[in-house]
Order: sequence, then C-alpha cells, then structure tokens
Amino acid sequence: MRLRCVRQSPVFEKFFAGTRSENGFFPFLHFVAFLCVAMRGLASSIFLVLFCGVSQAEENTSPADATVSSAVASEGLVASPRIETKTLESSHFVLHYDARLEQTTPDYAAQALLALEAARRNLQTLLGVVANQSIAVFLDLEDAYSQEVEARFGFATIAFYDGAMHLRAPRGAGVELYALLQHEYFHAVFREKVGADQPFWLNEGLAELFERSTLQHPGLNESELRELEEAVRSGRWIPLPRLERNFVGLREDEIRLAYLESSVAAIWVQEHVGGGAMPKLFEALAAAKQRSDAVDVALRAVLGLDTAGIDQALRDTFFARLEAVSPQ
Ligand SMILES: [Zn+2]
Repeated sequence: MRLRCVRQSPVFEKFFAGTRSENGFFPFLHFVAFLCVAMRGLASSIFLVLFCGVSQAEENTSPADATVSSAVASEGLVASPRIETKTLESSHFVLHYDARLEQTTPDYAAQALLALEAARRNLQTLLGVVANQSIAVFLDLEDAYSQEVEARFGFATIAFYDGAMHLRAPRGAGVELYALLQHEYFHAVFREKVGADQPFWLNEGLAELFERSTLQHPGLNESELRELEEAVRSGRWIPLPRLERNFVGLREDEIRLAYLESSVAAIWVQEHVGGGAMPKLFEALAAAKQRSDAVDVALRAVLGLDTAGIDQALRDTFFARLEAVSPQ
C-alpha cells in the first residue's frame, strides 16, 4: 500500500461501464456546450492552452531539465522484484516508472514529465492555482498496478491520488496519458490548497473538466446532458450532498452518474465563482475545514448557495431543458 503522508482516503477513479473507456476517456461524440456559450468558448481556450503548453514544453525542455536515476527502485509500486523501476525528475515532479514502458516508447518518462509540467502551467492559466510542493508520480503497467490496487481497494481503478499520483500507464505516451496525468494533478493541487478532498463532487468535477480539456471536444456532450436530464426526470439524480464526502457505496451505474453530476456541478461553480475567484473558493474551503459544515460555509460565502442550493439550481436547469423540448 502506497499511502504516504496522507490521512484522508485516497481519491480514486473507478471504472464505470459503458462510457468511460479503459483509458479513462469518455467517447468523443459531437460536442454540445452546456448552460452557456461562454463555457464553450472557455472549453476551446482550454484546449488551445494545453496544446500550446505541450508544444512549448517540447521545444524548451532539454536533457538538462530532467535528471535520471537509472534502475532506481522506487518506494512505490514494486509488486515484484523482477520489475525494474526508474526515476526521472523535473522541476516540480518526481516520476517513478516501470522500465518496460520504454520498450515501446524510449522517451516515455520524458514525455510524461513534459505533460505534467504542461498540466501545471495549464492549471495556473485556467484556475490560477498550482501545487507548490514537488509531487511524486508512479506510472505502472497493468499487471503490477492491478495487483496492488486490487489488494488495496478490492476493485478496479485506472488511477488514484493518495498524496502521490498513481496511474495505470497506457503503453503509449499520448493524449490518453496526458489526460490522466491532468486529472490526477488536479487532485494533488486540490488537496494541497484545500487540505482535504471534499467537497468530493467539486474535486472530481473539476478534475474531469481539466482532464477533458486535453480533448479536442471538452465539456459534456449532448448524450451526457440527456442522461442527466433523464436522471432528474426519473428521480435517479443523486442529490449533491450525497456526493460531498466520497462516492463509496454507489452502484456501478450510480458511479457513472456521480461523475457526470460532478462535472456539471463543477461547470456551474466555474460560471458562478467569477473570473479568477477559484483560488478564493479553495481558500474559503481550507479556512472553514475545521467546521462540521465547512463546505456549506465556504460555498455560501463565495457562491451564495450551499450544496443543497447548487443541487436545486442544477435540477431546475435540467427541468427547464426538459420543458423546453416537451411538446406543447
Ligand atoms: Zn478523480
């Protein structure tokens, strides 16, 4: 178990059938922006920023930017002594990776570090926050990853954050890897800034949006919006307060819905928090965290609504969409 310097439960990404693929992606489908055109503009900007960021990193990074410790056994996932692990560092990350990843992509680790540094810059641009501390990142192939994760959690995940980032690494260092790294990097920043993983729906929702910003069509697509509408209409909608602590205890179909609800709730927060005010919300959450009603105190102070109020606003929005398309 790779718990390091954490008292909270890890933030893990659970599988859910149907839409989220093995690599943690929702399918591309046609993109339909949710709630307002401004969000669509933001989404496009996010992709451009990421694209430019990665390009810039590729241009600027030289071997001098990273140091390699060859065949250094990390304190992370060493499920078998036969698995060789290596360590590569950049300014803000220490990467521990399975040496087998270099078989198909010789510069896999260097590309992962470039992506991490790009994620750091992108989050600074988008939300005005970055992690101040160096972050440990463990990239493991499926055999070793699954062995440890199943022993630890008892169910499949594709990644989790427990004070360090842990990923079941895709074989190729492409957009799938970048998106996963973005997602888990956000969890790292959230915990550093807030001092906790709650509200879990906001943490997961913003991580999902940040992950999706890697894609050419970020945000929620029309199919997902209809799924949320149906959840509201049928009563399957999970009240946001239920998603405040964690997703533990949810059925598989509910987990998928929980991620979607969290994403749409995060979009709502982004729209209502005001430009540049996300750090203010994180500060408010951190300042109130000793209180039993910390989340609601912080949300009310910054957004004017507590968790239940945001939940109602979201359901009202979907009811309005339903009414708009209902035959007269
Ligand atoms: Zn997550």
